[in-house]
Amino acid sequence: MVHFVGAGPGAPDLITVRGQKLLEEADCVIYAGSLVNPALLEHTKEGALIRNSAEMTLEEVLEVMEAMEEQGKTTVRLHTGDMSLYGAVREQMDRLDALGISYDDTPGVSSFCGAAAALRAEYTLPGVSQTVIISRMAGRTPVPEGEQISMLARHGASMALFLSSGMLPALQEELLRGAYTEDTPAALVYKATWPEEKVIRCTLGTLAERGAAAGISKTALVLVGDFLGDAYDRSLLYDPAFTTGFRKGQKR
Ligand code: SAH
Repeated sequence: MVHFVGAGPGAPDLITVRGQKLLEEADCVIYAGSLVNPALLEHTKEGALIRNSAEMTLEEVLEVMEAMEEQGKTTVRLHTGDMSLYGAVREQMDRLDALGISYDDTPGVSSFCGAAAALRAEYTLPGVSQTVIISRMAGRTPVPEGEQISMLARHGASMALFLSSGMLPALQEELLRGAYTEDTPAALVYKATWPEEKVIRCTLGTLAERGAAAGISKTALVLVGDFLGDAYDRSLLYDPAFTTGFRKGQKR
């Protein structure tokens, strides 16, 4: 059996209770060494086989899983954040299906949630944005036609950009081609929830300059949108005059 587990954004106590238990019981752990906090491996079983997938190909990962399965052993495949975002998890699941090896998924806290926590921010502020766009700049991995940042930026919604902090000048330019302006609030969050976390609040017009000054070029998220500003409407859900399925609104 293979368990895909989301490790969370970095802090070792931000893995789920279920994920932690699976990790403690695993005979083999294949972890994404470029981003998973090694502190998470401290509580693995004595004698467990630990492999770093950063140094492996998909084929090699599958070989280890297959060998474990043949011995009736369990493997935890530990992905950073939540594996459903830029996790290259689907290709593993499809190969396991073809091999007849069973698996399950335990989600994790994605880094975009860790970054919001670091900023004490809410992506979906009433009257500001009710949409979060998660995307990335095209790098060595291309993005499909129609998903260019400049096109997504037309909505002026809250945006969380992964895998793009090494391309800040180009990212800034693309974002400015949409609905945002030089004054739109932005932030860079480096290693959210790790001890070395850095939070930089800026405007879109100063994003690249501030990122360069802080020496940030990887393991960071770029957030942009008016959700990082000060103006918003209060929620209807908690408005005394608003009736919900659980509470009758009072006339003011
Ligand atoms: N599945 C992961 C994302 C993997 S892609 C998740 O859900 O978070 C790797 C990218 O995620 C990095 O380049 C960076 O943009 C972002 N990232 C991962 N962990 C991060 C963290 N702790 N702080 C800021 N960004 C992080």
